[in-house]
Amino acid sequence: MPELPEVETIRRELKPRVINQKIQGCTLLRKDVIGYPKAKDFCTSIIDKQIIDVTRRAKYLILELSHDSRIIFHLRLSGTIYLRNRDAQHERFTRVIITLNDYQLFFNEPRVLGRIYFLQNDKNIKIPKGYYTLGYEPISPEFDLNYFRNKINGRKAKIKALLLDQSICAGVGNIYSDEALFHAGIRPLRKANKLTVIETFKLLVSLKSVLYRAIDNFGTSIGDYTRTDGKNGKFQNSLYVYSREHEPCRICGTKIAIQKISNRSTRYCPTCQK
Ligand SMILES: [Zn+2]
Repeated sequence: MPELPEVETIRRELKPRVINQKIQGCTLLRKDVIGYPKAKDFCTSIIDKQIIDVTRRAKYLILELSHDSRIIFHLRLSGTIYLRNRDAQHERFTRVIITLNDYQLFFNEPRVLGRIYFLQNDKNIKIPKGYYTLGYEPISPEFDLNYFRNKINGRKAKIKALLLDQSICAGVGNIYSDEALFHAGIRPLRKANKLTVIETFKLLVSLKSVLYRAIDNFGTSIGDYTRTDGKNGKFQNSLYVYSREHEPCRICGTKIAIQKISNRSTRYCPTCQK
């Protein structure tokens, strides 16, 4: 569930607090959240490393460490990261505790689908899967009309499915694809190759705009996502279609429809979106 704006919010909150901190301890409460290397090697590998930066790529959060190494978090559906004081007790769904000089970083994950990877000088290991085939993020300058049209031109797939494709729109998931299509006035079921240039441009602008506004509002707290202090984001108050099925459209009053596309529930307004 956490998409680009949620992971970016976590990054912005973590960075000023954890930068230059040293990893002093590591506790695995569930070993299966460690995606690489083997769980028994994970803790010994990260201890004594220093955090030199906190970055993000699409929906992946990355702690850049000393010795050309990094920890990559993939939050998947329900993973969250909390920053707690050194004396805080772990919580019900805490799976990993990384102890720093001044804080404990909790990786909480009720469904145990999220994964953590540690990589060091491992440029040839294609882990995590999907990370190396990511396309541009819609908020990047490289994501322009030329790029977007090249990626979707001639594709018979439904536009909604292509917005979810991480090799096209890195960082976009179900929330922001639904919202961007609403603001562009385009039905999610439309075939990509039937979009006009103007529609494609409108969709590009909507994607950028909705992602920037969601970042400014600390993400969307529906389901498990919260900020690193446990507080909710605010963008759920600005949604037009996502999670609003059967409610009246904020623009025209028509009931918001819901339909499965690519096995994902998709919401749209049958009147505002053509
Ligand atoms: Zn409407």
